[in-house]
Amino acid sequence: MPAIAVHGGAGVIPTAELTPERRQAFHAALEAALRAGFALMEAGGVSLDAVVAAVKVLEDDPLFNAGRGSVFTASGEHELDASIMDGSDLRAGSVTGVRQVRNPVELARLVMDRSPHVMLSGPGADDFAIEMGLEQVPNEYFSTERRRAELERHLRGEARSGDEAVLGTVGAVALDSHGNLAAATSTGGMTGKKWGRIGDSPIIGAGTYAANDCCAVSATGHGEYFIRAAVAHEIASLMRYRGMGVVAAADEVVMKQLVTLGGSGGVIAVGRDGSIAMPFNSPGMLRGAMDSSGRLETAILR
Ligand code: ASP
Repeated sequence: MPAIAVHGGAGVIPTAELTPERRQAFHAALEAALRAGFALMEAGGVSLDAVVAAVKVLEDDPLFNAGRGSVFTASGEHELDASIMDGSDLRAGSVTGVRQVRNPVELARLVMDRSPHVMLSGPGADDFAIEMGLEQVPNEYFSTERRRAELERHLRGEARSGDEAVLGTVGAVALDSHGNLAAATSTGGMTGKKWGRIGDSPIIGAGTYAANDCCAVSATGHGEYFIRAAVAHEIASLMRYRGMGVVAAADEVVMKQLVTLGGSGGVIAVGRDGSIAMPFNSPGMLRGAMDSSGRLETAILR
């Protein structure tokens, strides 16, 4: 029964940058994340631990816009967002604008498990991470040359497309053999963001949602639109109140509602029956799925 899906962001990868080496590195990272989460569940572990394990692999990989490799804000720094939800009891945790915790998804988990709150922001969230004894890193730890070049292009007004700026957010959704669903999402946000901008990724019901009666969802794309469409919760609602399956519900929101609004991106979702949906309306979405039927696949473009 265990099933897991991961994403590494939706958007455009300019073909010139999608060298065979880079393509191979994306596939390998997605597979490593899937295997990390799946192995835990195969050994009897719960989906909540599986999504944290999978997201951590991608946060630590500089290829992705989460943890190390996060995009730069307009002022040349990094402000990270992450969230997690436990479908078995609808508990959730999230952090936004954190600057020095190595793995923001672990901090979101601790907000859920060890604080009376759901969402913490900025310096307060970083203080909570210190209190919890999470690994601290200097803000430059998250920097990579590729992301710096993206910021420079952005500041010169030369970004090749809005989509490019959003590629690389990561997320995981999983169903364990106890029937528990969980979802987690982590991101550096959008290149050149300012004024303390917050996207959908740390917002429960927008970028992340999980409930055992329907599905677990993690989103990636132009966050402003995903917030307005309450994407993750909308997929759950279509399943609950219209009786749709996870594939149809995710398609309805990503390929219709978001397209009508003008929001590009996609989601990964797993239903309580173990079905996996990975729709996206952008040219590409780094994604992968693995389940107990032996399915193991990773993909980049359509
Ligand atoms: N959704 C993220 C945000 O708006 C970005 C992304 O998914 O690439 O912050």
